[in-house]
Amino acid sequence: MKKNILITGGAGFIGSHVVRLFVNKYPNYRIINLDALTYAGNLENLRDIDSKVNYTFIKGDITDLAFVSNLFKNYKFDGVLHLAAESHVDRSISDPLAFIMTNIVGTVNLLNAAKECWANDMDDKKFYHISTDEVYGSLGKTGKFTEATSYDPRSPYSASKASSDHLVRAYFHTYKLPVVLSNCSNNYGANQFPEKLIPLVINNIKNSKPLPIYGKGDNIRDWLFVKDHALAIDSIYHDGKIGETYNIGGDNEWTNLDLVKKLCDIMDQKLNRETGSSQQLITFVKDRAGHDQRYAIDATKIKKELGWQPSIQFEEGFEQTIDWYLRNSDWMNNILSGDYEKFYEQQYTNR
Ligand code: NAD
Repeated sequence: MKKNILITGGAGFIGSHVVRLFVNKYPNYRIINLDALTYAGNLENLRDIDSKVNYTFIKGDITDLAFVSNLFKNYKFDGVLHLAAESHVDRSISDPLAFIMTNIVGTVNLLNAAKECWANDMDDKKFYHISTDEVYGSLGKTGKFTEATSYDPRSPYSASKASSDHLVRAYFHTYKLPVVLSNCSNNYGANQFPEKLIPLVINNIKNSKPLPIYGKGDNIRDWLFVKDHALAIDSIYHDGKIGETYNIGGDNEWTNLDLVKKLCDIMDQKLNRETGSSQQLITFVKDRAGHDQRYAIDATKIKKELGWQPSIQFEEGFEQTIDWYLRNSDWMNNILSGDYEKFYEQQYTNR
């Protein structure tokens, strides 16, 4: 019998790569993609698998408990991969409540529905909560986050994700719900909403618009290709030990400024512009409030226990990513709607 697997947030950036991977790789699963289609959700991201027989899309909001419980009653899910979230730090600073609702209340709704649905039989069930390295706070010049690092979230986004991580672990300890978690570093790749650094900068270079960089641009992030995150999620969902957490990262640290300069250089070549011309668009803007200085992940556990490691070199993944955004200008133009333009203006102008 086919297993029913619920993937939440599958119309978003990372979720769309996970849904595609699971639909294509596991014909014996029926993949149900539950997504509210907020500004960040886009069914265009999944057009190629839309008509597959083992794939169903359901529009719905995880903050709606009655809806979520009914869904579990109807589909009797065997597994859950939970990616739905409000995910943009800047938006969490201007509207924290939306993050509390989706990231905390929405997660608890899913946990409760799974607990009820699996009350008589937890065998072979799994609730996989996908989270971020931002829950660990900010690092100095050295050191890396391990699974044992204490939580120290600094933004409403990371605090809401930290809270949801704790609740997922609490359901494991208190109710024996079969959970597994992962915390990953920054992802890059196709389908990312252009409020995030890499697609935003690619689009602005293309349109010769200023490239806004927070503060001095010296904040450091570790970058992982989104398809490698999806492969890690596949491996953790199938082989991760119940109750455990796995850190996922790319061993690939960049300051924001160096990353943007690299993008500028590659884009100059691709657009046949004079070398250095895009770098002239770099504009430093007032720093993000509470901006974490550095994130870095120690991914030893997943590498040793599950044999996962990044499969794509940064240079190659970065090039593929830039080419994808340049090829898919319709995707970008459709997203750059009135609402997003308003958000953009508020965020980066009049500072
Ligand atoms: P995203 O913002 O691109 O996508 C989120 C998706 O969730 C969207 O499709 C949106 O419509 C949906 N959604 C939002 N609220 C919902 C609700 N109330 N009910 C149902 N669906 C809702 O996010 P992403 O970057 O793909 O991140 C996915 C997950 O991975 C998040 O949990 C995030 O915390 C985590 N994560 C992201 C990164 C990263 O670099 N992007 C890194 C580590 C972990």
